[in-house]
Amino acid sequence: MHGDLDAHDTGAAMFAPEAFLLSDAEAELIAQARRFGARVLAPRAARHDREASFPLENFRDMHGEGLLGICIPKEDGGLGAGYRTYCLAAAELGRFCGSTALSFNMHVCSTLWSGALSDDLDMSAADRAAHIARRRLHYRRILDDGAVYSQPFSEGGAAAAGGVAFGTEARPADGGFIVNGKKIFASLSGAADYYGVLCTERGEGEAASRRNTLYLAIPASAPGVQVVGDWDPLGMRATVSRTLLFKDVFVPDDAMLMPRGVYFQAATRWPHMFLTLSPTYMGLAQAAYDFTISYLRGEMPGTPPVKRRMFPTKQIAVAEMQVMLEQTKALWFQAISEARANPTKEQVLRAYAAQFTVMENANALAAKAIRTCGGQAMLKSLALERIYRDSRCGSLMLPWTAEICLDRIGREALYEPGETDD
Ligand SMILES: Cc1cc2nc3c(=O)[nH]c(=O)nc-3n(C[C@H](O)[C@H](O)[C@H](O)COP(=O)(O)OP(=O)(O)OC[C@H]3O[C@@H](n4cnc5c(N)ncnc54)[C@H](O)[C@@H]3O)c2cc1C
Repeated sequence: MHGDLDAHDTGAAMFAPEAFLLSDAEAELIAQARRFGARVLAPRAARHDREASFPLENFRDMHGEGLLGICIPKEDGGLGAGYRTYCLAAAELGRFCGSTALSFNMHVCSTLWSGALSDDLDMSAADRAAHIARRRLHYRRILDDGAVYSQPFSEGGAAAAGGVAFGTEARPADGGFIVNGKKIFASLSGAADYYGVLCTERGEGEAASRRNTLYLAIPASAPGVQVVGDWDPLGMRATVSRTLLFKDVFVPDDAMLMPRGVYFQAATRWPHMFLTLSPTYMGLAQAAYDFTISYLRGEMPGTPPVKRRMFPTKQIAVAEMQVMLEQTKALWFQAISEARANPTKEQVLRAYAAQFTVMENANALAAKAIRTCGGQAMLKSLALERIYRDSRCGSLMLPWTAEICLDRIGREALYEPGETDD
């Protein structure tokens, strides 16, 4: 731990360990993330947001803290966090810099999905042995060299929503694959060392199938990889999510982050894997609320010590925000706590509801915070305006956009698999 931590206001834990029955080890890792966020991420967030520049130094510092390996199994030298512990730690980071927390999630998923999540899935003994050997290569790069992974899935069509096979294709070649395609909104483009690309394995004359989805770690330095386009968005500006092009990129077999067929299995049997974009936004929701309390009490650093808490209208708004925040936290905590292979229908519907609630409420809370705190609170010298813009992005993120969550809840609540009205 760092000696200068007390110099920073780390705030209270979002999920108090004693109230939410967290284990000591879980609570300590989450507290480490909160201290790191307050000490390292918060002071850098405004500049990277303004410049739309990627905060690579945050990832260097995360390497120093061991956080890049948060979900790498302990026996492989990582911190061994499970799904829930990771989500809670990532939410703490999201309180201080949304872009870093969101980019961090892209990196962590390469280890969580290939790690604890894959351990829950079926594969032959030979596939499992090969997978464990391959993922160790990836883990060593992360732990020894501070390698950063990203997760470019989106292509601008229906593939990232799970509707059709990915248009980016991997053609089997001697000792590996040749990859061709394009990914949009690729967070960490130009900054990551490896792009964790979802693509469709397709031999000569074969039809494209979602069952043949491959998850490949493509080195950023591989010949044929190109970053193009600009990045000047409303929010999450420091994610630098530009476009990636792959032109006849060769990767060896050990680039596979999951064995053949396992990504498709994960997407159907471990659906909470897609809830991992939500911790960032849970943190932003908390940040909007915390800002409001501090501001109305006249305690916001960088502003005059003017109290505004005595107005009944402000008190009612804060009460409504607190109710919304508690509802959001309770549902989300339940969903991340019960994530597992083969969840029940009720658990899957709850996961969609949690994703929808976090993504929509984070922005609703930020909007209400601005209206309640007043005009001076939305100046760019304060964090709230960035929280507001960043929080707007959550419900747009595939595969579980707010629209898709509603669409699935409605359909899956009313129809059992295979049921029709014919
Ligand atoms: C800040 C930020 C960072 C991002 N980082 C990444 C990243 O690192 N990696 C990554 O892969 N993506 C990332 N994304 C992209 C994100 O997940 C979406 O892919 C992107 O926002 C989609 O934009 P769109 O306009 O194509 O979406 P939309 O047009 O809303 O949807 C995309 C496609 O999905 C299909 N679709 C939409 N709704 C439905 C539905 N109800 N049912 C079935 N199909 C549907 C349609 O075919 C549609 O064309 C990021 C997005 C943001 C905002």
